[in-house]
Amino acid sequence: PEVEQRRIVVIGAGPSGAIAAALLKRNGHDVLVLERQRFPRFSIGESLLSHCLDFVEEAGMLEAVQAAGFQTKHGAAFAWGERTSEFDFRDKFTAGKGSTYQVVRADFDKLLADQAELQGVEIRYEEEIVATDFSGACPCLTVRRLADGQVYRVECAFVLDGSGYGRVLPRLLDLEQPSNFPVRRALFTHVEDRIAPTSGFDREKILITTHPELRDVWFWTIPFSNGRSSLGVVADATRYAGHDADLDACLKRFVADTPSLSRVLEHARWDTPVREIHGYSANVKRLHGPGFALLGNAAEFLDPVFSSGVTIAMRSASMAAGLLHRQLGGETVDWETEFAVPLKRGVDAFRAYVEGWYDGSFQDVIYHENAAPEIRRMICSILAGYAWDERNPYVAEPKRRLRVLAELCAQPA
Ligand code: FAD
Repeated sequence: PEVEQRRIVVIGAGPSGAIAAALLKRNGHDVLVLERQRFPRFSIGESLLSHCLDFVEEAGMLEAVQAAGFQTKHGAAFAWGERTSEFDFRDKFTAGKGSTYQVVRADFDKLLADQAELQGVEIRYEEEIVATDFSGACPCLTVRRLADGQVYRVECAFVLDGSGYGRVLPRLLDLEQPSNFPVRRALFTHVEDRIAPTSGFDREKILITTHPELRDVWFWTIPFSNGRSSLGVVADATRYAGHDADLDACLKRFVADTPSLSRVLEHARWDTPVREIHGYSANVKRLHGPGFALLGNAAEFLDPVFSSGVTIAMRSASMAAGLLHRQLGGETVDWETEFAVPLKRGVDAFRAYVEGWYDGSFQDVIYHENAAPEIRRMICSILAGYAWDERNPYVAEPKRRLRVLAELCAQPA
C-alpha cells in the first residue's frame, strides 16, 4: 500500500501537541496531528501557571482562551493546620503574566486543538501510532484507525511526540528511564463545592493543603468557574495500605483528617466517583534523536505539586517548534545544547523545589511567617512558572538557595 508523505507529524493533540502544531503551521509548514482519542476527553492537570499563557499567546490562541469563561487564577494559597501562606502571581520578581486560569481540561484541550485546526493544522482523531521505523532516510510511522482497525503508514521529515502519558516514542524507541521520585499515588474527583462567597475562600487561587500530621501528604483544591472544584490527595503509595479498597471512602477519610480542608468542603456535594492515578513520575534517556524530539509529559513528568506540567509541556513545544522551523529551513540545529539542556534547566529548578516540598524544607519556607518580601517575590516567580529566568537567584542556584533559606526558616519540631 501507498505510504502517505507529510512534512511534520505530531503525536497527540494535548497542550504540547496543539501548541507545537500551531506554531509550525504559522511558520508555513505542513503538520499532521494524530490523536488516539476523540475530543473532548478527560485529562488531569487543571491548574495552569501564568507562564503557559505566553505560549498560548505565541500560538495565537490567547483571545480564544480569554473568551472561554474559565476560572481566573491569580496565585496559590497554602494551608497547614492554622498556618496559611499566599502567593499572588501579579506581585513577583520576573516580569510576565500575573494571571492565568483553572480549567476543565476536556474543554481547554479541545479549545486549543480546535484553534490549531482553525489555523490550518490537520488533526485526525481516533488514530493511534502503533509502530515507528527510524532506520530509513526519514521516519515512518504506522497508524491504526480505531473506527475500522485499518492500518496505514506515514513518512515525514520529523516527528514531535506530544503523547503525554502514552509515551509513544520512549516506549517504541526504548528511551524510558525510571524517575528517581518514589512512587506516589493521587486520588481525585470533581465536587459541586458549594463554598459560600462569604466564607473568605479565594476561588482565584489554587489551594494546596498539607495534611496536619503527614507532611508529605497534600491536597489540591482547584475551583472552576461553574461552582465546581477539582479535589485530589497525593501521597506515597504506601500511605494507602489497608484503606484503598473504596477510593471514595479513602479520599473522604484523608479530607476528614484535615480540619482546615474539611471546613472549606463542609457543604460540598460529592457527585463524581473518585479516580486514581499512580506511578506518573517518569523520565527518559534523551529528549531527541535523528528525526524526532519529545515534548511535555512524553519526555518527563516530575510531580503535580506546583502545577508545572502544562507549562513545561508548552515551553518544550515552543522551543521544539522554533528549532524545527530553523532546521527545515536548512540551518544546522544542535538539539542537545539548544533544546534539551536549556529546557532541563528550568525543569531542574522545579525539581529542586518539588524535592524540598516532600522533605519539608520548602514547606518550612512557604509557611514561614516573616519571610522577606523580596525573597517571596522570587519564589512567587517560580510558582507562576517563570523557572527559566536565570536572573532570579532562586532559579539560577535552586538547591543552594533553598538550603540556605530553609535553614533560616526551619521550624522547631
Ligand atoms: P497530554 O495532555 O497527556 O496529551 C497527550 C495526548 O496524546 C492525549 O490526548 C493522548 O490521547 C494522545 N496519545 C497518547 N498515546 C497516543 C498514541 N499512541 N497515538 C496517538 N495519540 C496518543 N499540570 C498542570 O499544569 N497543572 C496541574 O494542576 C496538574 N495537576 C496534575 C495532577 C496529577 C495527579 C498529575 C499526574 C498530573 C498533573 N499535571 C498538572 C500534569 C499534566 O497532566 C500534564 O503535564 C499535561 O497534561 C501534559 O500535556 P501533554 O500535552 O504533554 O500530554
